[in-house]
Amino acid sequence: MSAYECEFESEVLALTLQGRWPDGAEPQLREHARECAICGDAAAIAGAMEDARQESYAAAAPADSGRVWRQAQLRARLEAAEAANRPMAAAQVLALVCAVAVLTVSLRASAAWLGGALDRVATAASGLDLGAWLAPAAKLAGEHVALAVAAAAVLCVIPAAAYLAMGRD
Ligand SMILES: [Zn+2]
Repeated sequence: MSAYECEFESEVLALTLQGRWPDGAEPQLREHARECAICGDAAAIAGAMEDARQESYAAAAPADSGRVWRQAQLRARLEAAEAANRPMAAAQVLALVCAVAVLTVSLRASAAWLGGALDRVATAASGLDLGAWLAPAAKLAGEHVALAVAAAAVLCVIPAAAYLAMGRD
């Protein structure tokens, strides 16, 4: 055995690189390394190299794959929600336009009905022609029922459709 070699050096090196030095080593080997300069140096140098390797591995470690997957899922969901919101906004604008149109038609019809009714009340009051007043009023009331149903359909069906479109995502 020369001064540059020791039969236990490889054993000490192996234990150190496995992270089992000195706790996982035999007491005799630890005792030997305390006295043997070669084994002591081997343990110190290999330990330092192992520490440096673990540090650089931790610094360069790729991100946790589960986290990457969750982030990708979250991003996909956000993008899908944004994509779903675009037609939603269009549907909402359409619903608003329909509601305003129905409301406008309804108000105009109401104004026409009110104007006609007032005329007819005046006519009926002067001539007591009740039939001439009731028939157009009933007709207009029927039209108002149709308008109310149409307005309800616009105000209920479109939000319901929008809700279903949202829930589907
Ligand atoms: Zn030795």
